Amino acid sequence: MNNRLVITIDGPSAAGKGSLARNLALFLDFSILDSGALYRAFAYFHDQGLNNKEIESSIEKLIFIPEKDDTKIFYEDTDITSSIRNEEIAKAASELSALSDTRKSLIDIQRNFMPSNNLVADGRDMGTVVF
Ligand code: C5P
Repeated sequence: MNNRLVITIDGPSAAGKGSLARNLALFLDFSILDSGALYRAFAYFHDQGLNNKEIESSIEKLIFIPEKDDTKIFYEDTDITSSIRNEEIAKAASELSALSDTRKSLIDIQRNFMPSNNLVADGRDMGTVVF
């Protein structure tokens, strides 16, 4: 049984969830789960032609590093932050996030994210659905 602590920050977009999550994670020394970044990464890998299984295993390798002004996202030692934080990927992420297959792919990844670490998880369904 895993007794880690998970702080969930739900809320509408552009409400400041991300910076609250980042600052809490830095202050408490918790890991961070930026669920929006997972949906963006899903769109990014989808754009590269990966199927859902391949996308899931790529997303499982992502590492989030909270910094003072941003959370950096790494995939196999490559910083993909700017590749996923752009308008094109935002639009694709929004469209893909409406598909139940996408949400199904991401739910266990989110629940098992950094399973031994305390976590701050931000996203509109973190407390209500995922955790
Ligand atoms: O928060 P961010 O803009 O990075 O999220 C990208 C997209 O991912 C959102 O537009 C939303 O459609 C989707 N998303 C979601 N559920 C979450 C987080 C993000 O559907 N928990």
